[in-house]
Amino acid sequence: MLPLKDTRLFRQQAYLNGQWVNADSGKTIVVTNPATGEILGTVPEMGAVETQRAITAAQCAWAAWRDKTAKERAQVMRGWYNLILENQNDLAILMTAEQGKPLAESKGEINYGAAFIEWFAEEAKRVYGDVIPANKQGQRLVVLKQAIGIVAAITPWNFPMAMITRKCAPALAVGCPVVIKPASQTPFSALALAELADRAGIPAGIINVLTGNARAIGGEMTANPLVRKLSFTGSTEIGKSLMQQCAGTVKKVSLELGGNAPFIVFDDADIDKAIIGAIASKYRNAGQTCVCANRLLIQEGIYETFAEKLAIAVKQLTVGDGLQADIQQGPLIDMHAVEKVEAHIQDAVAKGARIVCGGKRHVLGKTFFEPTILADVTSDMRVAHEETFGPVAPLFRFKTEAEAIQMANDTEFGLAAYFYSRDVGRVWRVAEALEYGMVGINEGIISTEVAPFGGIKESGIGREGSKYGVDDFLEIKYLCMGGI
Ligand code: ADP
Repeated sequence: MLPLKDTRLFRQQAYLNGQWVNADSGKTIVVTNPATGEILGTVPEMGAVETQRAITAAQCAWAAWRDKTAKERAQVMRGWYNLILENQNDLAILMTAEQGKPLAESKGEINYGAAFIEWFAEEAKRVYGDVIPANKQGQRLVVLKQAIGIVAAITPWNFPMAMITRKCAPALAVGCPVVIKPASQTPFSALALAELADRAGIPAGIINVLTGNARAIGGEMTANPLVRKLSFTGSTEIGKSLMQQCAGTVKKVSLELGGNAPFIVFDDADIDKAIIGAIASKYRNAGQTCVCANRLLIQEGIYETFAEKLAIAVKQLTVGDGLQADIQQGPLIDMHAVEKVEAHIQDAVAKGARIVCGGKRHVLGKTFFEPTILADVTSDMRVAHEETFGPVAPLFRFKTEAEAIQMANDTEFGLAAYFYSRDVGRVWRVAEALEYGMVGINEGIISTEVAPFGGIKESGIGREGSKYGVDDFLEIKYLCMGGI
């Protein structure tokens, strides 16, 4: 049993129309703790029929929620936000148990995730329309912004809570109901959020959490004409397929997909700050975030020094069960993730890369992996083109600024990029030249509820967080009034 103060936060049923329910079939799926291999519990294996039921419930509940004022919705959401923070410890324990990340990172995610609820509840009060000066006598032209309607949200396992609040908060705040399908590895964080939403008084049908068969649930979400918007965070492959599925009913889509983040360190950088940034950006969540540095591009003059200093820092990372004190790197999510990391290392070494530290499965066994650095990495290796999603820092070497930009942009992805330089001219040139949705300059952690998160190219469509994040859940309606 997990040491929760409030055991009612541990829910093993889905939340549909304000009720805790099982799958029609009675079938369940098992959820395990990646650090121990122990079974934590089960959740219902739902499919298309239950999804359709949730969408119908959302449709029935929609009008009453939409017709509240933004301030009334904000008050209910504030209650939800407060409950999340009051239960931060329990939520963090649940998250670490199902996801593996160290407890401190889970607590950080609870704060970060809750912040989207606070931000959007306030921001929705400022959804202004427009009055356009008419170009004909006797007319008035007005623009309204209205809630788009039912939102389907499909979320991944690497941020079991924040990926949900980042989608649900703007949707709810502007008046949309949501139907959520969390990742099957991490459903308990999502269900605990639903329990707190219920206690906060978010009406039945406005938040629904379905667990189970991704293909069946996603199939109904994308085919059902009542769903007006799909917001997905996950792999590029599944994102592309969901986008195609949404074409049938022309849904608005937001996609937050894979990345291949470059982390560039120029000769003129503050190397010690760059090491701190690299550790945070690369090894956070054991390298399993879509904005984790995937390629470290280091200018030749500081290459060896950077490699040595990074190795000192990496060797200090403590690996273990995230529920234990002072752990900095937990297990990877599953064996498939371990095999991908191993394959990337093997491929790099076979093509001439050198292991500076780490490089193999950790003595703790299971899905624990040693924090790893690879040097002498080149663009013909898999790590250059694919997202490793693990604790491996491959160090590439470059000579000139132009070469660094060319290498950084040589990918179909365009989510986050980072670079370190003290030269103000270079800072502007490189920031403008990088083909990415987000650029960290002398910073390794950039995500916050007040700034727009999202990618370009094949990393996605739309932005989450910030004033821009509201737009994805609104439709623009133009009123042309004549005869005045
Ligand atoms: P990851 O590699 O991070 O697991 P996925 O894209 O497979 O990324 O998963 C992200 C989310 O998408 C999860 O909630 C998963 O269950 C869901 N998912 C996976 N396959 C499908 C599908 N065919 N249709 C809808 N959702 C899916």
